[in-house]
Amino acid sequence: MKKQAFYFLALVLIFFAASNLGCQKTKGAFLWWGCDYVELDISGVKVLIDPYGGIPRKANLLLITHSHADHCHVPTLRNVLAISGKATELALGSSQCAACFDQIPGIEKKLVAKGETVHYKNLLIQAWPSVEGEAGISYFIRDGQTGISFLHLGDHNSYIRDFQGMPPVDYLFLAMGKMSLEDMIATLKDIRPKYLAPIHYMTQGWAPQYGFPSPADPARYIADLEKRIKSENISTQLLILKTGEPFRLT
Ligand SMILES: [Zn+2]
Repeated sequence: MKKQAFYFLALVLIFFAASNLGCQKTKGAFLWWGCDYVELDISGVKVLIDPYGGIPRKANLLLITHSHADHCHVPTLRNVLAISGKATELALGSSQCAACFDQIPGIEKKLVAKGETVHYKNLLIQAWPSVEGEAGISYFIRDGQTGISFLHLGDHNSYIRDFQGMPPVDYLFLAMGKMSLEDMIATLKDIRPKYLAPIHYMTQGWAPQYGFPSPADPARYIADLEKRIKSENISTQLLILKTGEPFRLT
């Protein structure tokens, strides 16, 4: 009997050890779907920023930086709502998104201005400026559970001093082909993110029917940026994402 109890205990210990090995703890993930479309999966909340290209993903929260058709894209937003059902609870957008938001009924929508803070579940979301022809906004998002922070600059296209007071940023999503190299470097020096993920281009031809207004040669922008980051001794690491492949946060 004693022998049986020993074997049972040994089996239980092996089971727990194996399950700990098998499920390495993750703090969430993010995906990039081309253009400025970024999906965050953090603290059990799914966030879509500027969903585009007709690619529907389930979402609890939608963040739209500005009203241009590749950012506040009604067909993609409708696809998202169709597969998410009641899971999509809130959409935030810049003041220019009112007309676009009118076309996606059935969820709570809020137009936010720079400086505003919104809390959604464990997330703190702050609206920062984003310059792109009209009053756009960028989003600083911090996960209260893990402390990991993100900044999505929308189509921000020129250097402004406003980011000098930015809280620490782990992951910066930055559109290529919008700012000059000098402006990108100056902006990076103000924000000092740990990682920079270049976006606003397409790598694998997803949903080509909508077109992607990306720079013709994103690789050149990225290579020039990488060179300057090194020569300026900026500690930010470049993160080259592939569309649709999750980047796991550990
Ligand atoms: Zn754009």
